[in-house]
Amino acid sequence: MPDSAIPHQPHTFALWREAQDTRVRTRLGGIYYLLAWLLSWLFSTAPSDMLLSGLLGTALFTLLLALRWLHRLPQEESDSCLRAWIDRHWSLILVTSLAWGLAHAWTLYSTQFEPSRLIATLSTVAFSTAMAFSFSMRKGRCILAMLFLYLPGLAALGLHWETQQALLITLAFYLSYLLLALSRSHREYQATLALEQELLYQRERFDQLSRTDNLTQLGNRLQFNTLFPVLVASAQRVGSPLSLVLLDIDFFKRINDEFGHALGDACLAAFAERMRATFRRDSDALLRLGGEEFAVLMVDTTLEQARELGEQFRQELSSHGLEVQGRHQPLTTSLGVGCFDSANDASSAAFFKRVDDALYRAKANGRDCLVLADLD
Ligand code: GH3
Ligand code: MG
Ligand code: MG
Repeated sequence: MPDSAIPHQPHTFALWREAQDTRVRTRLGGIYYLLAWLLSWLFSTAPSDMLLSGLLGTALFTLLLALRWLHRLPQEESDSCLRAWIDRHWSLILVTSLAWGLAHAWTLYSTQFEPSRLIATLSTVAFSTAMAFSFSMRKGRCILAMLFLYLPGLAALGLHWETQQALLITLAFYLSYLLLALSRSHREYQATLALEQELLYQRERFDQLSRTDNLTQLGNRLQFNTLFPVLVASAQRVGSPLSLVLLDIDFFKRINDEFGHALGDACLAAFAERMRATFRRDSDALLRLGGEEFAVLMVDTTLEQARELGEQFRQELSSHGLEVQGRHQPLTTSLGVGCFDSANDASSAAFFKRVDDALYRAKANGRDCLVLADLD
């Protein structure tokens, strides 16, 4: 399963994990109810005398098995969809448990089933054991399913208390053990889930940190390298305009030389803050490519819109400079701006080079200016 398919909200993740586990575990189990019924029927005194009820039981367990298999996980992984799926799937589990509980009671009650009683009772023990250990994610529902499996049979045994008391007491004793085992299994499931959530959270945090520039809190080069080809491919496929703005602060080395590296760092952070104020759309990706070089990736943005925003940023910076460590710091930047053009740009690298060349020309033109990338 790709990471992108795993829900990242802790609550949705818990529901998604539960739905996956429930689905995998019921897919295996369902067939055994059908087999247990067939064995109980076919090894009864005279199966042909019970043809109708035998076939009806077979049809019922086949239908329940088919419904389990056909009940696929929802495509949409929202909380409400997952919760509704889990509820519906548990309805199937509970109906199957009750159907088997009643079938078991019938085998204990009717003399026709005398030869196959042991098969039915052993099956009940097996189903309830599987229930306690495999479906412990929902404790209340699991207890209900186990009661559905046992109570009809215990009631049938109670009707013949004199002869069946040993079996009744043994089954009741085993049920109480299963309820204790279920409690422990439920706690273990919850603990494993919490651990998985913690791992997921830590991994995401680590991933985010590795893609964030520490000084400016913008995306870093790794983030750019990951994002840029994806956005270019998407723009090519969908045909929507993707613009790239490259910015390089002018004569930044002088600031470091004159005022020290710490003030240089503060300038870079203030520059990033100014970028955030201008390139404000949620879909704008703001990045620090390295040193005093920055980029803005703008989806669904034409060349003219990108030029306007870039020019606004340049003019404001040129006129007002930055406020750094309580003092005014004059600063300018050069910009290269381009929009992806599938006829011109054979690859994302070719597109980047076209915009980088424009930035180079902005520097050559005397800095503090914006140059549009050429089209061949
Ligand atoms: P140009 O107008 O040609 O771009 O001149 P420039 O001085 O900005 O360019 P140059 O490439 O010569 O120097 C970039 C400087 O940026 C050199 C380096 O000291 C400074 N720099 C790079 N990264 C950092 C950083 O993280 N913090 C600080 N304070 N300075 C940095
Ligand atoms: Mg530079
Ligand atoms: Mg520079």
